[in-house]
Amino acid sequence: METVKLTIDNKTVEVPKGTSILKAARKIGIEIPTLCHFELHKMSIENKPGGCRVCVVEVEGRKNLAPACATEATDGMVINTHNIRVLNARRTVLKLIISDHPFDCLVCAKSGSCELQGLATKFGIRDIPYQGEKSTYRKDTSPSIIRDVDKCIMCRRCEMMCNEVQTVGALSAVNRGFKAVVAPAFEMDLEKSPCTYCGQCVSVCPTGALTEVDHSNDVLRALSNRSKTVIVQTAPAVRAALGEEFGLEPGTSVTGKMVAALRRLGFKYVFDTNFGADLTIMEEGTELLNRLNRHLSGDNSVKLPMLTSCCPGWVNFFEHNFPDMLDIPSTAKSPQQMFGAIAKSYFAEKIGVDRKDLVVVSIMPCLAKKYECQRDEFKVDGNPDVDYSMSTRELAHFIKQANIDFMDLPDEEFDNPLGESTGAGVIFANTGGVIEAACRTAYELYTGKTLDNVEFNTLRGMDGIRSATIDFDGLPINIGIAHGLANARKLLNDIRAGKSKFHAIEIMACPGGCIGGGGQPFHHGDSDVLTSRARSIYAEDAGKPLRKSHLNPHIQKLYDEFLGEPCGHKSHELLHTTYFDRSEEVAIHHE
Ligand code: SF4
Ligand code: SF4
Ligand code: SF4
Repeated sequence: METVKLTIDNKTVEVPKGTSILKAARKIGIEIPTLCHFELHKMSIENKPGGCRVCVVEVEGRKNLAPACATEATDGMVINTHNIRVLNARRTVLKLIISDHPFDCLVCAKSGSCELQGLATKFGIRDIPYQGEKSTYRKDTSPSIIRDVDKCIMCRRCEMMCNEVQTVGALSAVNRGFKAVVAPAFEMDLEKSPCTYCGQCVSVCPTGALTEVDHSNDVLRALSNRSKTVIVQTAPAVRAALGEEFGLEPGTSVTGKMVAALRRLGFKYVFDTNFGADLTIMEEGTELLNRLNRHLSGDNSVKLPMLTSCCPGWVNFFEHNFPDMLDIPSTAKSPQQMFGAIAKSYFAEKIGVDRKDLVVVSIMPCLAKKYECQRDEFKVDGNPDVDYSMSTRELAHFIKQANIDFMDLPDEEFDNPLGESTGAGVIFANTGGVIEAACRTAYELYTGKTLDNVEFNTLRGMDGIRSATIDFDGLPINIGIAHGLANARKLLNDIRAGKSKFHAIEIMACPGGCIGGGGQPFHHGDSDVLTSRARSIYAEDAGKPLRKSHLNPHIQKLYDEFLGEPCGHKSHELLHTTYFDRSEEVAIHHE
């Protein structure tokens, strides 16, 4: 490989030809600030528009300063990243950006984690000498995401995420000059665009231009209402990331402290979405086996591959883009919704509370779940199975607001019966985890044999598209995995073209799966954060006494006492759903 050698701040560095100055500097530990560049290097995700000009550096011998993200490092270059000329230029750029920014940091949802605010503090910006016209866009509130476009600095990270990583195309640059902004086509509401609510744009937006809809006050109100019984479920990915909001290293598991915090916040019962995940495996695994058995007995009408359906961002995507294939995904509801349906039927009956007086809150790594719990299919007489879905970030704020010393909390256990789970439920958080959990159960149900090694390492990893063949005692099962919707689209196009060789495919909308969800603590492009969270999830699974969903004793009891059999009549009524052709929304957007 051809390399180049250059000097940055008196340090020599050798990098492959074609590397940017920004990356060459990072290699020797020199961090050059930027508001537009964004990279998840282990997943080849990179935004490099060179538009913000905050990363300018001095290249000796050149007249003008150069943007480090968009300038190639060449042999013999001598670069200064922080002399007076560079620092003054950066201050000027920041002042110009801030001059068209609302000064409402005190009430901004991103305050404390805003990259623009962070740089203004770092560079000691104390006054804005430039006074001019300010943008005055209306706020756009969808079920999951709020767009406050006055705070948009046109970094275009969201556009890269939405168009390249997700291939959704809900956001792109519109208008010119001062009026330029990143928005849905014709500046229509996000709700009317093909947005999937995956939240990946929110997770990369450096300012408060994109934030989640915050349900903290609704939950606080419910907790203060004595006539309501408020219960909570926590998704598997939350425990591997919540600690980051309290200064812990990424991937530090805080399951016990999280349970203790939720109890102190006033939730009557603290349950685990992992229970819903185990239940999902019972239903989805049975559905897969049914389809496989029919296929093996020569039934040509059976639909294979079966696609997982537990990610609502992904469900939105295929409803918009693949309406001709609505019968391919499993009909199993997501773990959040399975949990809600069981909580408001079986559990409500057990504790003698009317479903209208039972408030179910979910803590999710996900913004699409906020939309999902508002869908009409998941309501009974207008009453939702899950009342409010809060993100990991919202929970952290909630805990801080209540003045709970998180680090000092003891480890506490989930309540039962809906708090018991196996390791299979935990790994739903990682890309590949849902299908690994399904294989653990489907193998035993299909072969009647005990699966000794439950860790399917061929299904793990961070490559965007992966495949593996699992041996079901002589029957080879071809599995596909995709995370990120561009990767999902490729596998879906293969199915549409009749070229797919898979029996089952797991799809998660977010890069990394739910550990990288749009509601998780901001990781600012550090892929190691996702790897650490994934490792912590696998460690929690390895430490569980039970690691196969069908062995969960409370799941077994639920079927004995209430549901009957997996994929039976009652399960279908409560735990399965239907999908809708929503391609019209995409068509209008692309007209
Ligand atoms: S939430 Fe996802 S689909 Fe919607 S605009 Fe953001 S990146 Fe695009
Ligand atoms: S909305 Fe946020 S991410 Fe998108 S261009 Fe504006 S500032 Fe950048
Ligand atoms: S991958 Fe997880 S966090 Fe992302 S949209 Fe899907 S369910 Fe939500």
